[in-house]
Amino acid sequence: MNEQEFDYIISGGSIYDGSGASPIRADIAVRGDKIEAIEADGAGIWKAGKVIDATGLAVAPGFIDIHTHSDMSILNNPMMESSIHQGVTTEVMGNCGISVGVITSDEIFAQELRWLEGSGVKIGWNRFGGFLSRIDELGTAINVCSLAGHGTIRKRIMGEEPGPPTCAQIAQLLTLTDQCMNDGAVGLSTGLEYLPGRYATVDEIAPLAAVAKKSKGIYTSHIRNEGDTLLESIAEAIEVGERTGIPVQVSHIKAEGRRNWGKVAAALDLIESARAQGIDVQTDTYPYIAYMTGLSVFLLPRWASAGTNDEMTARLNDPQTRQRIRKEILENPPQWDKVLIGGAPKSTSAQGKTLAELAVIEGKDPVDTALDLLAFENGWLSAAHFAQCDEDLEKALEYRYTSIGSDGVSACPHGKFSDASIHPRSYGCFPRVLGIYVREKGVLSLPEAIRRMTSLPAKRVGIANRGELAPGAFADIVAFRPETVIDLATFGNPHQFAKGIELVLVNGQIALENGEQRDIRAGKALRRTNGVVE
Ligand SMILES: [Zn+2]
Repeated sequence: MNEQEFDYIISGGSIYDGSGASPIRADIAVRGDKIEAIEADGAGIWKAGKVIDATGLAVAPGFIDIHTHSDMSILNNPMMESSIHQGVTTEVMGNCGISVGVITSDEIFAQELRWLEGSGVKIGWNRFGGFLSRIDELGTAINVCSLAGHGTIRKRIMGEEPGPPTCAQIAQLLTLTDQCMNDGAVGLSTGLEYLPGRYATVDEIAPLAAVAKKSKGIYTSHIRNEGDTLLESIAEAIEVGERTGIPVQVSHIKAEGRRNWGKVAAALDLIESARAQGIDVQTDTYPYIAYMTGLSVFLLPRWASAGTNDEMTARLNDPQTRQRIRKEILENPPQWDKVLIGGAPKSTSAQGKTLAELAVIEGKDPVDTALDLLAFENGWLSAAHFAQCDEDLEKALEYRYTSIGSDGVSACPHGKFSDASIHPRSYGCFPRVLGIYVREKGVLSLPEAIRRMTSLPAKRVGIANRGELAPGAFADIVAFRPETVIDLATFGNPHQFAKGIELVLVNGQIALENGEQRDIRAGKALRRTNGVVE
């Protein structure tokens, strides 16, 4: 019978459908880009071009990474190796207020353009839809969609002005946000800890969120502060939801700094009480206790890092101002052995060392070591800060509305960027949840962890027919070995594929088999159209 002939049968695996339900032993039939049937004894009666033996494997919907920055790398690395080796089949890019789709070739983006051109990417678009079309033309290994970044939108309209926006500027911000949404953005993101997002208040953000809401988009926020004023910052994100009715996603929830440890419970309580009042708030997290960002962002007093990098460097080089900066840092210094230098373009020997180690090597105190390095690099210095505690992370993972989101950038362990200093989450996020927090620590059950990686983020973003294993759904499928799956990427050696991810299908095509990626680009750029992301 013709309708019994399929392209692939995945046979003998334990099927986790993504709903959180216990696994069942069944076979999956794939034809074209869809799952056509799931039946207990299907393989016995079906025919297929290829039968894949999944005995001993957990078979799940392809993972959906709800929080990434891969729009910064997708055009120079469309094979997205680090993502596919984790079993990720869809990413939501453009988070934290930053979205490459909003960058233009205007002078205001000179810095971004230098950096994009350095990686071989030329801006050939002047609107968000053009960026998505470029991805279509290029083809990608996995599906991607993107938020419109408020920071980038603001920069395009207002440059680095501290604001607030004038009436004319507000009109332009609204128009550009609306254009992005019409072009297929899945929502609006903010990065209120970064420039220029830091200048924005709820009065500026809420009208833009209302525009995103009109297209059924979501609002994601890297909130204003994730340490001392964590709770106030979450309340601010919730206020945007309260004023506009838009679904709010608190990005990468955490409590930074020893004196704030334990606050994640209170943060989740805030989210729960907002939900009880009918405000739709959820969150996401990555399974690491270190975050990675610009060293200036978390080390310097706000006034000292304000403005452009040149202005910041001038302050660091002015002896009097430097003394003041020094003094303020020493009032509440980080633990220097917990700050690991990441990307330092001109001081590569500093990469991978802690500020405590560097201070010894250079015979200076750690503050001067840090400030000298920042000035020398003109602010272009990233660092990993081991500022969180595992109890908070486990609390976040236990919460039923926490999706898994890497906050990573898709990368590749060979070629031009293989020595880039990146957070290991780009390679290890999903296998680490499965290996450490499910298998070793038992913080979540396997079906529940899979739900947080699949149907929960799919529903959150409004992605249609993905995040579940069901007849009619797209055949985005991962099969892995639950007894051995684990991340191998470390801060010192981040470009390491995870272990235990055996098979990945993207839109019905085999993208990875026996742990080896195939040279195909089966992914699609997804767009929100009529409210649905497809
Ligand atoms: Zn962020």
